Amino acid sequence: MNNTITNILIVDDTPANLRLLIGMLRNAGYKVRPANNGERAFLAIKEYLPDLILLDIMMPGMDGYEVCKRLKADEQTRDIPVIFISALNETVDKVKGFSIGGVDFITKPFQVEEVLARIEMHLTLQRVQQQLKSQNVQLQTEIIRRKQLELALSKSKEKLECFMDSATDYFFHFDQNLNLIDINQIALQLLGLDKKEALGKQLTELSPYVQPAERYEQYQEVIRTGKSFSVDDRVIFSQHKEMYQSIKAFKVGDGLGIIATDITEREIVKQTLEEANKMLQSLASLDGLTQIPNRRRFDEHLRHAWQECLYTQQSLVLILADVDYFKYYNDNYGHLAGDIVLKQVAMAIEQAVRRTQDLAARYGGEEFAVILPNTDIKGGLSLAEQIQQEIEQLNISHDFSEVDQYITLSMGVAMFVPDEQLTIEDLIKSADKALYAAKEAGRNRIVTR
Ligand code: GH3
Ligand code: MG
Ligand code: MG
Repeated sequence: MNNTITNILIVDDTPANLRLLIGMLRNAGYKVRPANNGERAFLAIKEYLPDLILLDIMMPGMDGYEVCKRLKADEQTRDIPVIFISALNETVDKVKGFSIGGVDFITKPFQVEEVLARIEMHLTLQRVQQQLKSQNVQLQTEIIRRKQLELALSKSKEKLECFMDSATDYFFHFDQNLNLIDINQIALQLLGLDKKEALGKQLTELSPYVQPAERYEQYQEVIRTGKSFSVDDRVIFSQHKEMYQSIKAFKVGDGLGIIATDITEREIVKQTLEEANKMLQSLASLDGLTQIPNRRRFDEHLRHAWQECLYTQQSLVLILADVDYFKYYNDNYGHLAGDIVLKQVAMAIEQAVRRTQDLAARYGGEEFAVILPNTDIKGGLSLAEQIQQEIEQLNISHDFSEVDQYITLSMGVAMFVPDEQLTIEDLIKSADKALYAAKEAGRNRIVTR
């Protein structure tokens, strides 16, 4: 022990005793202060605290017991070890001494070794107690800190759970082997499981939650590389239940987090819109009465065909067909009957036109047009003849036609190899002229140019 800083206060009213003890302890290397009564002792203590006090019991005025009681009552001095001093001939109450907080008794006449040994022992004891006390304080502080941490943790976990359970997205947390370790309420409802059943299950076991097979590999990849991904999936639960989900997969700790959002409504709206769009588009390009392509579609198709034939320097044929004496038909059979005829004629023409690059359209009123790219005049003529045959086979009576007793068509066929000097209008004009010529020549015939 470090004697130089150990200071001892000796309280005794007998000067001989004081001198003896001072000499003994200073020799042993302690710092010693004397006090010859209780009051002086407290003054010395007030100056600075001693590490140990030797205290005479029998003193005039305040006796040793009284001094000790006051020391023990004060928080500051309570822990200073007090050793009582008594003479062999004095009758002292040792029980009382211990009960008010003394740690030991030394009896006069003093034995040097005994005094030093007792002092040394109590100083050591005191030190050990102080250490224990401070360790205990540290321990207590640590326990409190941990309790606070636990509380904060459980609160934040509670908060997180509250968050997760009030979310409308599905949360899944898997460990690195893809066993489920956490899940929120709405996801449990989706799977039709309670939490106990669900936890610990493999991702693949969470049937009937079927995802595309490649997802499982992608999930493992996320765990391996830490790279997250998102994807929109069609998830099938059973024959009757499917769902569109937007899935985000990311690494959480060593495992995998998945957040899935139900996008079924959005997806259905999207699909419906797409279908409606398609329908609108086809409506916009189909003739309402005959359900074959309309004039708009005809113009578009002719522009494309023209461009392509200009590029490949192939010939392009345009046929214009017009129903003969159709006004008379309407006048005598009625407009509704006329409509039916137009539908039948349209179908017949469309049937004759077979190649995908060809197009039959209603050009307007009782006039129809056929575009035949990469076709020469012979091919054009042959298709026009075929159309004529189809119309013949319809056998639609027209008692008021001046050319036949059935519905007939007049057709003009024009062929161009497009070049920079020619325009689409030139081609149409040419086909129109041929049609006019067919009418002029008596109708129910084909004129080529
Ligand atoms: P031509 O042999 O010279 O062609 O005589 P046409 O009577 O056929 O010719 P015109 O141009 O004089 O009459 C065409 C008729 O076609 C008049 C019109 O009422 C009828 N028409 C045009 N579009 C429709 C339609 O959508 N439905 C019906 N029912 N008739 C229509
Ligand atoms: Mg006409
Ligand atoms: Mg006509």
